[in-house]
Order: sequence, then C-alpha cells, then structure tokens
Amino acid sequence: MLKKTSSINATSGAYERAVELLGLKPNVAGALEMPDRELTVEVPFRRDNGEVASLLGFRVQHNNTRGPFKGGIRYHPHVDLAEVRSLATLMTWKTALLDIPYGGGKGGIAINPSEYSIYELERLSRKFFRAIDPVIGPNIDIPAPDVNTNAQVMGWFMDEYSQAHGYTPAIVTGKPLELGGSEGREHATGKGTAITVRETAKKWDIDLDKSTIVIQGFGNVGSFTAKFLDEYGCKIIAVSDVTGGVYELDGLEISSLFDYNYKNKTIKGSGQGKKITNDELLALECDFLIPAALGGAINKDNVDTLNCKFVIEAANGPVTQKAAENLWKKGIPVIPDILTNAGGVTVSYFEWVQNLQQFKWELEEVDTKLETKMVKAFNEVYNMKVEKKVSMRIASFMVAINRVARSYHLRGV
Ligand code: NAD
Repeated sequence: MLKKTSSINATSGAYERAVELLGLKPNVAGALEMPDRELTVEVPFRRDNGEVASLLGFRVQHNNTRGPFKGGIRYHPHVDLAEVRSLATLMTWKTALLDIPYGGGKGGIAINPSEYSIYELERLSRKFFRAIDPVIGPNIDIPAPDVNTNAQVMGWFMDEYSQAHGYTPAIVTGKPLELGGSEGREHATGKGTAITVRETAKKWDIDLDKSTIVIQGFGNVGSFTAKFLDEYGCKIIAVSDVTGGVYELDGLEISSLFDYNYKNKTIKGSGQGKKITNDELLALECDFLIPAALGGAINKDNVDTLNCKFVIEAANGPVTQKAAENLWKKGIPVIPDILTNAGGVTVSYFEWVQNLQQFKWELEEVDTKLETKMVKAFNEVYNMKVEKKVSMRIASFMVAINRVARSYHLRGV
C-alpha cells in the first residue's frame, strides 16, 4: 500500500482492515485510497465596505470509477486540504455502499460565515464556483450543501454555472424546490437513520415498539430521525442540542417538540422534560443512542459512561476509532455513518436524476425509492458482517470497497 499521504481519515484503520479481508493487492488498495485530483483556489471577493478579501477554497475529487464525483461544500474555519480529502474519501465509500452511480468528492472554504453578510457570502460563493468551474460539471462533479452551506448557496452555485454554460440544475443538489430541488430531500437523512434503527431492531430481534431512544443533536438529522422513530412507535426519552438536553422517561412529546424546534431552531424553552447536560444524556440507559451532532462526540474519555445497547452513527464520525474498539470489545454494535446517514446523498442522487430527466417525482416515489435503497444496503452490510464475523463498520467498508475495486478492474487502468 502507498504511504499514508492521502488520508487523515479517522476511519483509515477500517479501510486497511477491510482491504486486508477482501484480499486486495497493495497496489490496488493504494490506488483506490489516493485522491484523483486536489484543487486549491484563491477566492477573492469584495467586502461590503469596498475592501477586497481573499480566502482559500478547496475541491478534492477522490474517485470517479463508478460515476461523477459527488460531495458537499462546507464553510468552516477548520476547513483545510487534509480534512476535505478525508471527507471526499468517505463519500466514495458511501456512494458505493448505497450502490448509487457516483464517486466521492468534497469541497470547502476556510471561513467563519457568521462574520460575513449575506451579500458577501453570495459574492464569495459565486467566485468560488467560478474558480472550480474547470473541474466540475453535471456528469463530472456535482457539489451539494454541507456544514454552513444550504439550499440558498446551492441556488447561487446553480445560477453562476448556468450563466456560463446554459440552464443546468443538475450541476448541484440540495437546491431549493423552486430551482429543481427534490421532494423529500429535507428529511432524507433523518428518514434513512430511522430506517437503519428499524432494520437493526429487526436483525437483533428487538421490539421497536418497546425500545427507548436517546438523540444527541436536534438539527436537520436529529429532529427528523426523532419524528420518524416516533411514527414507528419508539419511545424517545431524551434529546439535546448545543444548549443542552431534555429527558422524560415516559417519552417526550416529539411532534410538538419538533414543531417548536423547527420554528425556534433550538429545543431551549420548549418546556418539555427535565433538563440534562449533553454528558448526562450520553450516559442514559437506552436501547439506541443516536449521536446526530458532532464528529468525535463519543471518544475515549466518555465511552465508558455509555449505557446503551446500540450506537447509531447519524453524524459523520461521531464515534472515534478508540471508542469504537472499546464498544466492539463490550459487544455494543455501532452502526456506521456511511450506512446510517446515507439517506441524504441517496435523495441528492434522486434530485440529480430528476434534473437530468426534467421530470419531477412525487414525495411518495422519492420516499419509497429511499426505503428500498437503505434496506438493501443494510442487508448487504449485515450479511457481510455475519459471513466474515466483523463489525458493521468493517462490513460496510468491505461492501463499498469491493464494489469500487470491481469497477476499477472492469474499466482497466
Ligand atoms: P444541523 O446544523 O442542522 O444540526 C446540528 C445539531 O447539533 C443542532 O441541533 C445543534 O444545536 C447540535 N449541536 C451542535 N453542537 C452540539 C454539542 N456540542 N452538543 C450537542 N448538540 C450539539 O446539522 P445536521 O444537518 O443535522 O447534521 C448533523 C450531523 O449529520 C453532521 O455531522 C453532518 O455532517 C451529518 N450529516 C448530515 C446530513 C444532512 O443531510 N443534513 C447528511 C449526512 C451527514
């Protein structure tokens, strides 16, 4: 295998184990791990006060063996080439795992967006998109929203690209509905996470109706996960956001909490349950603990406090490698992020298909197709886990890497 220059990936241990179990030759494993292309651009733009500012932007195209590069663009002060590379790599495995015809990519700008006006953000977004224009296209690389970017930013991207190339909604996904966004995209990641919990309960013979759920993070992913699990009949006993958590052993009233949070963007002041801290929340006794906020939320310092039967990784990388090893030893299954939260990229793919077809699907069609994709991927990972006696994380990497490797061989170098 090549030197580890291509990844700072917290899951690179899982990658190495998976390629070993698959029996991939080191040269192939190394080639698949290496990014195809990394672009660093200067993004100069005019501030509202007339001054010119310059930021660094990145787009990493990890692998396009199975289809165009696909992945979000994040605006965050911590963005650097190494982080973007790591996230682009994960996108390759995620799209392969769900068997959608994409590769993996990611992008970002090192910026704290709260320090800029909406007009400044529009100007810099347009400049960034112009800067990466030579390497993107609806059949080449299709960006999407990520941390601190949203449907509005995708609307600007789409407009900027369309001005140069003609009307091209398929250049980005996660757009507003009025610009070719898909029905069902807003709730897709939460719905996919709820389906993952339901399928886990089936395989491990847990009565979903009687199961208890704890969710850290009540943003897009956490709140929709709670909504769908509530509809499945689960008891959601605690949820939290950055301001802290609420706990009710008999189950929170999710539909009113969801509405309150949707309106106020926080659960603070909802009047529900007993107040708890985020640390206390992680230690609650429950069947399913669902970290849906931050990377590294469950780590070596707090993993021993956990009191759950399963961890469902709804956020990206919420369980560190050390914590995952600890949970494996204790027999607590961790259902990995590249499976659990793949509902978002799956419906992004449906959005792209609708844009290419110039035909809009009804919500029911989107939801049904998402359900089919999620269940199929879950079963493939579970069967691999049973056959090879490995964790769900290693099994998901094995399914995904095997799929990319087979396409790689069939296409030829
Ligand atoms: P969001 O910004 O909508 O919500 C984040 C939530 O986490 C908020 O409720 C926030 O208050 C809470 N939070 C932040 N810091 C916290 C802390 N220290 N303790 C507890 N809660 C905290 O983000 P989102 O879109 O829901 O994404 C959540 C995670 O899921 C991220 O890791 C993201 O990368 C991942 N993800 C999101 C999608 C998607 O479609 N939105 C898809 C795949 C993966």
